[in-house]
Amino acid sequence: MTDYSFVRRHLIDPAPKWRDQRNPLPAVFLDRDGVINQEVHYLSKPEDMALIPGVGAAIARINAASVPVVVVTNQSGVARGFLGEDGLLVLHQRMTDLLAAEGASVQGIYYSPFHPDGQGEYRKESICRKPGPGMILAACEDFAIDRGESVLIGDKLADIGAGRAAGMKAVLVKTGHGAKESQLPGAQTADFIANDLADAIDRLFEMGVIAR
Ligand SMILES: [Mg+2]
Repeated sequence: MTDYSFVRRHLIDPAPKWRDQRNPLPAVFLDRDGVINQEVHYLSKPEDMALIPGVGAAIARINAASVPVVVVTNQSGVARGFLGEDGLLVLHQRMTDLLAAEGASVQGIYYSPFHPDGQGEYRKESICRKPGPGMILAACEDFAIDRGESVLIGDKLADIGAGRAAGMKAVLVKTGHGAKESQLPGAQTADFIANDLADAIDRLFEMGVIAR
């Protein structure tokens, strides 16, 4: 078994129901910036954390289906010195507070603070920086997740690549960087392209990918 203890985690849901290895669940993996919250270049201030319309209701719908929701986010702003991991935690608490106000929750947040152009301990290539699958694989070890039945939703081709590398479906949304990324040739490697997270979730329920 690979050791994924180096992968950084915030606000992991301790409930045992997500960890029943006899009953591995499909999971919905979500990129953060441009999928859950409005894209802000190197977001670092809690007051700049704003949900994209419809996201709370869409995540609440996945919650109601008893399917875990896991956030996987590249945060090279940490490596570049724009914010610290403590500041990132404040942002994540703000995000989960905003989601809770809409009746929604996520079961964990995995982030990569690393970048090859970063500073100090954060300056490195890492398989947990998307398109590497490290954060997803770490979550699959923390929770009982059926990777082949799971899906990743992101606004960049690096998200699609990470989902594919982890052996799951991958959906591109047009929010955030998605308006531009969806025009690139590599966008065709996504299972489909959705307008936003709410549209993606509607279609995944229709397709039976989230089948509960
Ligand atoms: Mg993004």
